[in-house]
Amino acid sequence: MSEEKKVPTRPLPKLTELDTAEFWRGTKDKEFRYQKCANCGTVVWHPRAHCTGCVDGDLQWHVSAGQGTIYSYSIVRLSYHPFFRGKAPFAVAYVDLDEGPRFLTNVVGVDDPGADVHIGQRVQLHWEEYEELSVPLVTPV
Ligand SMILES: [Zn+2]
Repeated sequence: MSEEKKVPTRPLPKLTELDTAEFWRGTKDKEFRYQKCANCGTVVWHPRAHCTGCVDGDLQWHVSAGQGTIYSYSIVRLSYHPFFRGKAPFAVAYVDLDEGPRFLTNVVGVDDPGADVHIGQRVQLHWEEYEELSVPLVTPV
């Protein structure tokens, strides 16, 4: 065993999961892909095999323009995970993309998340790049 200290990294998803692999492959090109039902028009998020509105299986992929609004958020002040420990305090937020998907993410690019993040705030995607994929974060517009 090496005595070298490993630099802590963000936990990343696997690209082999059937329902979400297409989404994560798109993040490599900084595309936030979401599904829309060809039968009833329901926007489906997170990715899955069948529509949450009508159970149809004909879901089409679309790409978000990357703009949205903070639906809700919380401030993490203490984390025991090595990657997140040094980042606290940071904001974890549910963001409603303009096309409909609501996803959980981190708000970056703010000095003080307790003062600089609020419900209803306009945000845009900010990609944290890794070798095989990118993680969709948001930053205030
Ligand atoms: Zn449907």
